Amino acid sequence: MRILVSNDDGILAPGLAALQEVAREFGDVTVVAPDSHQSAAGHSITIRGPLAVRRVHVQGEREFTGTSVDGSPADAVRLALFNLLDDPPDLVLSGINAGANVGIHVFYSGTVAAAAEAAMFGIPAVALSSELTGGEIDFNRDADICRSVLRQLLDRGLGRGDLLNVNIPALERGRPNGIRVGRQSRAELKDTYRRSGGDRDVDYYEIADYVFTSHDGRTDASLLRDGYVTITPLRVDLTAHDRLEGLEAHPWEELP
Ligand code: MN
Repeated sequence: MRILVSNDDGILAPGLAALQEVAREFGDVTVVAPDSHQSAAGHSITIRGPLAVRRVHVQGEREFTGTSVDGSPADAVRLALFNLLDDPPDLVLSGINAGANVGIHVFYSGTVAAAAEAAMFGIPAVALSSELTGGEIDFNRDADICRSVLRQLLDRGLGRGDLLNVNIPALERGRPNGIRVGRQSRAELKDTYRRSGGDRDVDYYEIADYVFTSHDGRTDASLLRDGYVTITPLRVDLTAHDRLEGLEAHPWEELP
């Protein structure tokens, strides 16, 4: 199996090193990732100017050789799929992100965007993130969890365009209670921006805590808070299918 591994924390991120090591147990791995921190890059792509692509040997506890791209996570995956890889991968993994990607964070997440980019072209993809609640992330523990989740997902079988969002609870929550599947939370975020200074001409605002206003049922956010490793199947198709019929129920007037 050919596996492409990417992320949004950049090619030097410890979570990427951990994930590519796990991935090697499942197949032939290529790493293509942004050269810098791209968290909250969402699904942006670079349309002005060239993208610098470099072969990088990453030193450290888990040495590997990969390719860096001076763009977004979606740029890295697109470039890998269209230009850098000889054959399309069978699976794309993104992560392990430092920070959970649950609820509406999924829209801002570069980690999920890298996986979604692959899913758009029919390649099964899994985004993997570790919740961060102020302490540290133990990537050894989380690599073991990712290995277990991936093995079970591959045993079940991943289909064309499958896009799965996996989140691992923070270390502070203790040993995870198990794996649960849940839908994406729709809870809103509170405390989005806080004024942090300024003068006569300018005001400064900073993003504050992104804390969910509520927990709504059996969702990724609530299951993660309750200490479960969560799996949420996502779709690239954002259509509200339940609204299609209602919007078509009455004929639309002729245009002026
Ligand atoms: Mn990130």
